[in-house]
Amino acid sequence: MNYSIALTPGDGIGPEVSSKAVDVLDLIGDKFGHIFNFVELEAGGCAIDSTGEPLPASTLEAALQCDALLLGAVGGPKWETLPGNLRPERALLGLRAGLGVFANLRPAALLPQLKDACPLKDDVLTASHPEGKANFDLLIVRELTGGIYFGERGRDGDGRSPESSAFDTERYSRAEIERVLRVAYDAASKRRGKICLVDKANVLESSRFWREITMETAAEYKDIETSYMYVDNCAMQLIRAPGQFDVIVTSNIFGDILSDEASVLSGSIGMLASASIGAKSAVKKYPAGMYEPIHGSAPDIAGKDLANPLAAILSAAMMLRYSFSLEKEALAIESAVNKTLDSGLRTKDIASRAKNTANEKIVGTNEMAAAVIKALENG
Ligand code: NAD
Repeated sequence: MNYSIALTPGDGIGPEVSSKAVDVLDLIGDKFGHIFNFVELEAGGCAIDSTGEPLPASTLEAALQCDALLLGAVGGPKWETLPGNLRPERALLGLRAGLGVFANLRPAALLPQLKDACPLKDDVLTASHPEGKANFDLLIVRELTGGIYFGERGRDGDGRSPESSAFDTERYSRAEIERVLRVAYDAASKRRGKICLVDKANVLESSRFWREITMETAAEYKDIETSYMYVDNCAMQLIRAPGQFDVIVTSNIFGDILSDEASVLSGSIGMLASASIGAKSAVKKYPAGMYEPIHGSAPDIAGKDLANPLAAILSAAMMLRYSFSLEKEALAIESAVNKTLDSGLRTKDIASRAKNTANEKIVGTNEMAAAVIKALENG
C-alpha cells in the first residue's frame, strides 16, 4: 500500500529525531511491502524564518492532503520574544485545530529495562500494581481542541489599576466531550478495560458536565469499569500509586499537566510518543492523525547528538497503529526498541540513576537509532 505522510521536522532536536523515525518507516516499508511518501513541510520557528508565520497556509493545506502528519518539535529561544500569536508553538495549535485532531493519546509505561531511570521506589510501584510488579502502564486521553486553551480570553482595564483583570474560559460542548470519551472507551476496551475520568467536579460546572456525560457513556460500555477522580488527587495518585490506572480521560488543560507528570515516571520525556486523532471523514480514507514525541525542541541539546530518538520512533509506530491499522508493523518497531534497550544501549536521559551501570552503554542519537534499525532488520 501507498501512504502519504506530511513531515514537519520543526526546530531544535525536531529534525534530528524525526529523521530517525523516517529511516525506521522506510525500513518498515521495505520489510512489509508498503511505500511511505514523505511530504516535507515547514512549521514552527523555521517557518517564521522563511515566511514570517509559524504555520503558513500552504503547510496546513498540504498536510490536509496527506494521510497523516509526523511532527518533530517546534520552538526555541530565537523566537521567544515574538508576540503570542507569532510564536512557533502557535503552529501546534493551528495544526491540531486545522486537522481536527481532538483526542490526544499519550501512553506512559515503565519498561522493565528503564526501571532504574524511574524516580519512584520499587515498593511504591509494586503496591499499586494489580499483580504486584514494579511497573505501570497507563494511557492518558487528553481532549485537544477545546476547553480553556481555545475558549474566550481577554483583559479588562489598564493592567495597573486594582480592578484590572484577565480571564480565560473553560467551555465544552456535549459533542466535544462525547467524541473524546468514545475514543477513550474504545482504547480501554483494547487494554485492561478500566477508565478514570479526571476532573474538578467539586468546583467546576464544566467538570460536572463532563461527569454527567461520562456516566451516560459508561452505561453503554458495560464491560468497562468507570471511575472518577479529582485532578488534584490524580496528580498525587500518579506518584503514589501509578499502577492503579489503565486509561485516564480528561480535559485539555488537565491532560497537558498530568501527562508531563506521567512522563517523568517513565524515565524520560525522550521516551514518550503521542498520537492525536480525529474523526473518520467521508472524503478521506484514513481518520485525521498527527503524531509527535511529547517533548519539545530541547534547544539545550540540539545538534549535539544527545537527543533520545525513541519517542519520535515510537510516534511513528503509533501512526502505523492508529492511522493505518498496521498493527504488525507497529509491533515490529516497538519490539526493535525493546531489543535495543535490552542490549543495554542508553541515551544520556535514560541512563540509570544507580551507580552500577556496568550493563549500560551511553550512546548518542545516531547510534541509538542505528541500533533500532539493526534490531528491526534482524527481527
Ligand atoms: P523540552 O521538552 O524541549 O525540554 C525539557 C528538557 O528535556 C530539556 O532538558 C531537554 O534537554 C530534555 N529533553 C527533551 N527531549 C529530549 C530528548 N528527546 N532526549 C533527551 N532529552 C530531552 O521542553 P522545554 O525546554 O520546556 O521547551 C523547549 C522549547 O520547545 C520551547 O520553545 C517550548 O515552547 C517548545 N515545546 C515544543 C513542544 C512541541 O513541539 N510539541 C512541546 C513542548 C515544548
